[in-house]
Amino acid sequence: MKFGTKVIHAGVEPDPTTGAIMTPIYQTSTYVQASPGDHQGYEYARTQNPTRAVLEKNLASLENGTHARCFASGMAAVDAIIKLLKPGDEVISTNDLYGGSYRIFTKIFANYGIRFHFVPMNNLEAVKEKVTDKTRMFWVETPTNPMMNVVDIRAIADLAKEQDAWTVVDNTFATPYLQNPLDLGADMVIHSITKYLGGHSDTVMGSVIVKETSLDEKLGFIQNSCGAVPGPQDCFLVLRGIKTLHVRMQRHCENGRKVAEYLANHAKVDRIYYPGLETSDGYEVASKQMRDFGGMLSFVLKGDRMEDAFRTLEQFKVFALAESLGGVESLAGHPASMTHASIPEEERVKTGLSNSLIRLSVGIEDSNDLIEDLEQAIG
Ligand SMILES: *Cc1c(COP(=O)(O)O)cnc(C)c1O
Repeated sequence: MKFGTKVIHAGVEPDPTTGAIMTPIYQTSTYVQASPGDHQGYEYARTQNPTRAVLEKNLASLENGTHARCFASGMAAVDAIIKLLKPGDEVISTNDLYGGSYRIFTKIFANYGIRFHFVPMNNLEAVKEKVTDKTRMFWVETPTNPMMNVVDIRAIADLAKEQDAWTVVDNTFATPYLQNPLDLGADMVIHSITKYLGGHSDTVMGSVIVKETSLDEKLGFIQNSCGAVPGPQDCFLVLRGIKTLHVRMQRHCENGRKVAEYLANHAKVDRIYYPGLETSDGYEVASKQMRDFGGMLSFVLKGDRMEDAFRTLEQFKVFALAESLGGVESLAGHPASMTHASIPEEERVKTGLSNSLIRLSVGIEDSNDLIEDLEQAIG
């Protein structure tokens, strides 16, 4: 099956009792057994839920994996993956990553004896310098948030294999429509489903997708033991939203390109971060591992004044000033004070995330309205 068919059909069967084409919301906590242990694979809803199971099958198929596990949020999925590790283990991570991931690594798991090294992962030599015999995991985000750096997934996965370490790719920005990390050698793909996969800004959820049964069993044990599972209503909403993922992504990419081209030629814009411009550092690797360039981009205004960035953000009429991304509506954010406020300023500035950087999640509205809005807001 091709991607546009899989989003609608993979894992989804008509309900056997009624023929309902939409997967029912199995709002139940437990399942009746004929005699002890005689059940149809469903015992208790933290462990298994049929609505969730359909979504998990669908996600596994979209990422060309064999198994998926859903969690109550993207962060719960991150949490489950790091719990595969033990005290003393080391993780090498992109230095330019989602603020919440940085926070859970440094403020929660560092206290449990897991060590994290943050490096610019588009520099393979810098990554190699941090490798030790304790390196158990490579944590990749690409394109990165919000600097849109592109990391060569295959190069990192090859290095990880030499170390007998896992490669995890946070594929939230690209989605499986644009890139499939498991095909490039990664062991695990993580998603904040909250973003593009859900796509309608109405659900918080996360997922981990793998291609190895033994790894899925480990994650399943953690999922059931720690219990951060999503409810069936939310699984239904995501199953509904994901059916249009390919159509939405196509428009996100189209609008993203138009906005990037507009900003690249704007007299008041100093720099733009978007992997689809031939002048961008990540263009070459992005062209190789992605099918298009997505709807996320960041830019900095000339003069790099915080107050100019704030004024622009306050002027927007179509773009909404809000955290999050990946929904049908266009959003604008100020990472330094919003999504990335938990990263210390000195760390943040090292990655190029200056105080006046504006991040856009370009939605699927009419692109003329988006450009007009940028025109009036930037002035
Ligand atoms: C939002 C996000 C997360 C966290 O997901 P939640 O669903 O908000 O818990 C992780 N990684 C990236 C890249 C994100 O954008």
